[in-house]
Amino acid sequence: LSSSSSPRVCIVGGGPAGFYTAQQLLKARQNAAVDIYERLPVPFGLVRFGVAPDHPEVKNVINTFTQTAQHERCSFHGNVNVGKDVTIDELRQAYHAVVLSYGAEGNRSMGIPGEDLPGVFSAKDFVGWYNGLPSNKELHPDLSFETAVILGQGNVALDVARILLAPVEMLKETDITQNALEALAGSKVRRVLIVGRRGPLQIACTIKELREMVNLPNTRADMLPADFEGIAEALKDLPRPRKRLTELMMKAVKEGGDDKAEKCCGFRFFRSPVEVLAGADGKRATGIRLALNKLEGSGESARAEVTGQLEDVDCGLIISSIGYKSIPIDPAVPFDPRRAIVPNEMGRVQDTAGLYCSGWVKRGPTGVIATTMNDSFDTAHVLIQDMEAGKLDLSVNKPGAQAITALLQTRGVRTVLFSQWEKINAEEEKRGKSQGKAREKLLDVDEMLKIAWS
Ligand code: FAD
Repeated sequence: LSSSSSPRVCIVGGGPAGFYTAQQLLKARQNAAVDIYERLPVPFGLVRFGVAPDHPEVKNVINTFTQTAQHERCSFHGNVNVGKDVTIDELRQAYHAVVLSYGAEGNRSMGIPGEDLPGVFSAKDFVGWYNGLPSNKELHPDLSFETAVILGQGNVALDVARILLAPVEMLKETDITQNALEALAGSKVRRVLIVGRRGPLQIACTIKELREMVNLPNTRADMLPADFEGIAEALKDLPRPRKRLTELMMKAVKEGGDDKAEKCCGFRFFRSPVEVLAGADGKRATGIRLALNKLEGSGESARAEVTGQLEDVDCGLIISSIGYKSIPIDPAVPFDPRRAIVPNEMGRVQDTAGLYCSGWVKRGPTGVIATTMNDSFDTAHVLIQDMEAGKLDLSVNKPGAQAITALLQTRGVRTVLFSQWEKINAEEEKRGKSQGKAREKLLDVDEMLKIAWS
């Protein structure tokens, strides 16, 4: 290479995409320095605030992320809201390249009347509540109703159903927040219906989550055999994962489960939400009106068409789980409002040399951590290719974090370094231990900062 200056790369967002991109850059370029900026004082994104508390094994990736953060050429700067505290242009001036890995913090709305009524929540907020996301700590969902309806049938919907129905004993040693645990202990929710527009052959969840739902203690399956008409005949032509998924659902329909179970859970297929119904006083949700659909076409690409028939379901809790959505964080960055992603080609942000993206903001809010890992590695490779092809001007020295932290200081923004996050981590583990839990998350940003900087 013609240049001797060490490449400095900035990453925006400290979730899986940010950490995996950093990991790959550090590994592939022996002299690269990587700084991660994260909005919250705490790292790991949806591994901390999304992944269900009863899936602790999924969170083991935190160990790898911690190794990356502790790498001598990596630094983590929490408590920096990029786009507000510092602009992308300022970051681009201080670094040879900037990678946007800020995930999907928005929420797709149902676009139906009544969806803002009390009693209706987005899955994003509900999940944020039981996982300790500071902005959701005051959610206080009213769990005094027997029936909950979840709209959407992906893994997030199944996570929420499981948390609503799982015996508290199954959750009490996890890192679920204590206030959620207490609310769930007093919950009256006995029946959870998970509604989808299309049929059993189009369901978007995976087998692990379905199996956990079917195996919930003291809970029987509440399915409609009519939803499964013709499915048995279609089985033999299905790809193996979908076949196993479908067989498991059919088994649940057939066996139904324990008659003495006090709770039930099941799918409602071929139904789209039309309106949230309010009680006589109009003050809160008391039900949901669904349109019955029929399928046009078959397989993954089948479309739901309304039949004109409607069905009302009484319920006091409605959770819409129809998807997360990325939002623009800085007007200087291209954004595709229709697809709700940063438009890019293989991670190179459209029309903006030196700007890259990875993770959910690159490809949309779908896919597990492993998918996010692969696509972050791809972005890192592309970035390194560009470096080696001379597309990033490495002949100029870039100041990196030194300049940015100084700039932030003039704006009254103090960052949380990884070693300072470790103090928060230690405090959370200590509080958890005293309650027999893996961890008790801090819910208040000011309290986090106080501990970090103590
Ligand atoms: P995120 O994890 O969202 O990380 C983005 C980070 O950017 C966040 O830390 C955020 O605070 C930060 N950020 C946002 N805006 C800014 C800003 N302006 N400035 C600075 N930082 C910012 N996958 C599995 O493999 N197993 C599971 O069990 C599983 N469960 C899931 C459960 C739920 C409810 C959800 C939503 C997802 C789940 N996933 C699971 C998927 C997995 O979480 C994602 O694939 C992965 O987190 C996406 O990574 P990301 O880094 O793109 O986004």
